[in-house]
Amino acid sequence: NFSIQLDNKSNDELGELAGSIQRLADELNHLKTERNEFLSSISHELRTPLTYMKGYADVAKRDNLSKQDREHYLNIIMDETEKLTTLVTELIELAQLDNNAFTIHKEWFPVSEALKKITKKILPSFHEADITLVVICPENIQIYADPVRFEQILTNLLDNARKYSPNGTITTLEVVHENGDVKIAIRDEGKGIPKKDIPFIFERFYRVDKSRSRDLGGTGLGLAIVKELIYAHHWEIEVASEVNKGTTITIIARGESS
Ligand code: ADP
Repeated sequence: NFSIQLDNKSNDELGELAGSIQRLADELNHLKTERNEFLSSISHELRTPLTYMKGYADVAKRDNLSKQDREHYLNIIMDETEKLTTLVTELIELAQLDNNAFTIHKEWFPVSEALKKITKKILPSFHEADITLVVICPENIQIYADPVRFEQILTNLLDNARKYSPNGTITTLEVVHENGDVKIAIRDEGKGIPKKDIPFIFERFYRVDKSRSRDLGGTGLGLAIVKELIYAHHWEIEVASEVNKGTTITIIARGESS
């Protein structure tokens, strides 16, 4: 740990400098703790699918297995491989976002056109979950954004709305144009997020229900990536949620519409 002994409590400039250095040391320690926690989460999250893969591969190798049983175990291994691939892809993505090793290519485009493309891709998964997706977007709203990143943000948020909602519910995506801002709200009728968890959901690997998220193919990194992409656009994101009622996530693109 960075430890600094500064007992200069005087009110003069030296005292002020001592205070600043102390705050800097505190901040460095905080960052160091965060980095260590992140690294230990990564090793845990990588080890989990590997443990399953090794365990089921051992079982699948047994001689006395029926064809169906062997297939069942191989499918689990495939499933875990997929989870591991998603995890590694998202970790690389986050590392690039952290290092600013990516560029945002903003351009003007009609939101409704982009949404048509995005919802077309995502609709089958909503159908499968028996969740209705309602899109409300006036044709004439233009937004200044990176189209690829825009798709990534919305796909992530819509995926969450679907994953954390029961069958038979409705997810609404509504775009409004207000004083030069574009507001995009994704409203679901899902399980909601407890108040105490809301401040943390954009943190890496934070999940309200770890095993449920994992079962649904979640990594706990989706919203962390969304947050970075929102910041890269200089936009804002707000969360409103009520347990067992639903969640609304709103993206606010200030002054970026015409
Ligand atoms: P995950 O891969 O687990 O979905 P995210 O980073 O996308 O990770 O989200 C973090 C956590 O926030 C989720 O595990 C879930 O607990 C909660 N969450 C996110 N979106 C919603 C939503 N629409 N409804 C309820 N909970 C949500």
